[in-house]
Amino acid sequence: MYRNFSIVPHIMFGRGSFSQLGDIIAPHRLHPESYFVFVLDDVFKGKPLEGRLPVQGDDLKLLVNVDDEPKTSYIDALVQQIRDYKDSKPDGIVGIGGGAAMDIAKAISLMLNNPGSSADYQGWDLIKNPSVYHVAVPTLAGTGAEISRTAILTGPVKKLGINSDYTVYNQIVFDPELLAGVPKDQWFYTGMDCYIHDVESLQGTFINEFSRAYGEKSIDLCRQVFLEDHHDKDDKLMMASYFGGMSIAYSQVGACHALSYGLSYVLGIHHGIGCCIAFDYLDEIYPEGVREFRQMMEKHQITLPRNLTANMDREALDLMVTTALNLVPLWENCLGPDWQKKMTRERCLALYKRM
Ligand code: NAD
Ligand code: ZN
Repeated sequence: MYRNFSIVPHIMFGRGSFSQLGDIIAPHRLHPESYFVFVLDDVFKGKPLEGRLPVQGDDLKLLVNVDDEPKTSYIDALVQQIRDYKDSKPDGIVGIGGGAAMDIAKAISLMLNNPGSSADYQGWDLIKNPSVYHVAVPTLAGTGAEISRTAILTGPVKKLGINSDYTVYNQIVFDPELLAGVPKDQWFYTGMDCYIHDVESLQGTFINEFSRAYGEKSIDLCRQVFLEDHHDKDDKLMMASYFGGMSIAYSQVGACHALSYGLSYVLGIHHGIGCCIAFDYLDEIYPEGVREFRQMMEKHQITLPRNLTANMDREALDLMVTTALNLVPLWENCLGPDWQKKMTRERCLALYKRM
């Protein structure tokens, strides 16, 4: 069966395009008394970007904290905050920030129209009702969260996205100027998330020409950004992120992402850095990708944390292995249908023990 997936229907790209956000959302303000919610990464609290939000009337500004990756309990609390704010639903949600803030805004827009807790919808196509209109404004590039059909959440029993066609944003505003203040390490980790999406998609068994077309362009852009220091590197990284997301939309990620989910679920390690940590031990699976990744690390003088699992007990390590191996489609894409023979619990454990 071929998948019939939805993509973002409206996209604006260009330096300074953020200043057109007010015009973009204006037609979606349905009544004079209705309102929009701006979900803003709190790193921008008191910064010029906060002052540039096109807030008007009863619009609500929600400053969200992403020190921890988004949890279902946090989404539920934010949705309650919006319900307490007004009896009516907002006309739209704008998510401004990195992958975490963009995922929070996606999840809020879904949960405003669907009953229960966001934890009830972690999985595939469990959402029944369309989301509230939602707009992404990335301020960090690499995750592809702006284009993907998932909002990744950590719930009481699992880390898993709300995957659905309704999760997909209605609009993206790509303004490369917004990447200006990203700390270098974070820029690298999130950028490598994109590079790893490309490697895992291009080397996977699920690859087709659709995914290859996007993956090849994305990896080429990553090379220009991370090996050549191209003068337009922020513009290029934003497009690399989008194309990387498009590539995995019709293929899948692989071993590195599966291992990084285990690191994140058990140790709370964030997605981008977790992918970098895991990728550095995957020479056997992605030899060329890992070699080039190390070149990029060296060029940007990035050092990764080591010995993360040294003091972990067997139970915690086992949970990490189980978390990683539960991600069946990722392993199948990476190693083929007989992946379980190739990635045994012992091999997975040995990989984690080296990290
Ligand atoms: P992030 O959103 O977690 O942000 C990392 C840090 O950078 C935060 O401290 C944030 O405040 C800060 N930051 C963001 N923009 C900044 C800017 N312009 N200037 C200065 N600081 C800035 O990082 P990320 O790597 O973009 O996203 C990771 C998250 O995305 C994880 O929660 C992960 O699960 C999720 N993710 C989602 C998808 C998807 O398809 N939905 C894909 C991959 C990852
Ligand atoms: Zn990723």
